[in-house]
Amino acid sequence: MTASSPTAPAGTSPVGGPALPQQRRLVTEIPGPRSVELQTRRTAAVSSGVGGTLPVFITAAGGGVLVDVDGNSLIDMGSGIAVTTVGNAAPHVVSRVQEQVAAFTHTCFMVTPYAGYVEVCEALNRLTPGSHEKRSALFNAGAEAVENAVKIARAYTKRQAVVVFEHGYHGRTNLTMGMTAKNMPYKQSFGPFAPEVYRVPLSYPYRDRLDAKDALRRAITRIDKEVGATNVAAIVIEPIAGEGGFIVPAQGFLPGLAEYAQANGIVFVADEIQTGFARTGDWFACDHEGVVPDLITTAKGIAGGLPLAAVTGRAQIMDAVHTGGLGGTFGGNPVACAAALGAIATMEESDLPATARHIESVMVPRLRAMAEKSGRIGDIRGRGAMLAVELVIPGSDEPDPAATSAVAAACHTQGVLVLTAGTYGNVLRFLPPLSIPEHLLTEALDVLEQAVLTA
Ligand SMILES: *Cc1c(COP(=O)(O)O)cnc(C)c1O
Repeated sequence: MTASSPTAPAGTSPVGGPALPQQRRLVTEIPGPRSVELQTRRTAAVSSGVGGTLPVFITAAGGGVLVDVDGNSLIDMGSGIAVTTVGNAAPHVVSRVQEQVAAFTHTCFMVTPYAGYVEVCEALNRLTPGSHEKRSALFNAGAEAVENAVKIARAYTKRQAVVVFEHGYHGRTNLTMGMTAKNMPYKQSFGPFAPEVYRVPLSYPYRDRLDAKDALRRAITRIDKEVGATNVAAIVIEPIAGEGGFIVPAQGFLPGLAEYAQANGIVFVADEIQTGFARTGDWFACDHEGVVPDLITTAKGIAGGLPLAAVTGRAQIMDAVHTGGLGGTFGGNPVACAAALGAIATMEESDLPATARHIESVMVPRLRAMAEKSGRIGDIRGRGAMLAVELVIPGSDEPDPAATSAVAAACHTQGVLVLTAGTYGNVLRFLPPLSIPEHLLTEALDVLEQAVLTA
């Protein structure tokens, strides 16, 4: 049996990965003895500062499964945190990477360039929201892209302040830690943080009960009164707050904010590192409300698992930086660029935005049924194949992080990898690879339902 997308018959899709049996199959306890042995070595060799969700060590992955060293086959509802959107080891990614790695592995684009980098930038300029003239620059990881978006916005506006939002996540480097909202585990004991970063309230409909108009007034008043619009270089926002718990702002909040930015000469930056590349049922989450950001940061899903990130935006903003002001030794590595071209080709050929919408149509009714039966799901939200539930104490909206951990642990024991998120630690988030066959998605939901009802 070969991996296939839910909308394509098995064996015909370029989405997927190695022809692994698409099944949940447990042959040992989770984790099994070989994983336990490796975990012991890990503890002795790897800094304990590096966290872990589920200590099973993986040997192969593709379609909708992760296979571990003990021979267990788990259903993947995490995509390595929204990265393997096209599936693990997706055929177009593998073939292009193999060709590239055999041809050359590095020159440094700033020293002697190569076509792959330019082709990725052309694809980004074409696919990101808006038909204006654009430029792109490539980097290694999401945090680096966010830092560069801030550098570019400051150079263009000659202003310093950066406005970010409650529940926001932008990375773990010094500047992006300061831009990230949540203290534990991201910021605790790592300060001091960079100055000129200002955090204002996000629209969070389940908890603030505000419509877009009121949520906008609250955020904009804070910017005007506490920062001063003429000091602001950039407003940086995730169109759906990822690590913050898949919070979808009230409809109209993002367009209103973009309008405010434009009226005040502020660069509007959409951090689409988690939401981008077909994940939400459109190419980018901004597309759902027709929002056209000045700059957009991308990473995670861009290259089928290889490390790559980008800033894309209006030509006059991107070109405002002096020559040599942007770059890095590895940024836009040729192998990562080849992977991105393979991933993007897969998304276009297989219409993966449509696959993400199909996954939403399968999952949301099941999550609604679970909410009704259990009484502990306070909110169901997200878009496409980026969905989450917020677990609360029944009869209230009080976050229940203990139940959330218990449900996740029960799913893991049963061979379904789910991730948690949220400022209050009470969100279960679902990010299946878009190559997951429908029968595995349904089976994962069965396991989840059992876990939610017995937690
Ligand atoms: C993951 C993430 C980042 C950071 O990306 P890294 O590649 O981990 O540096 C930044 N912004 C958002 C929205 C993310 O989800």
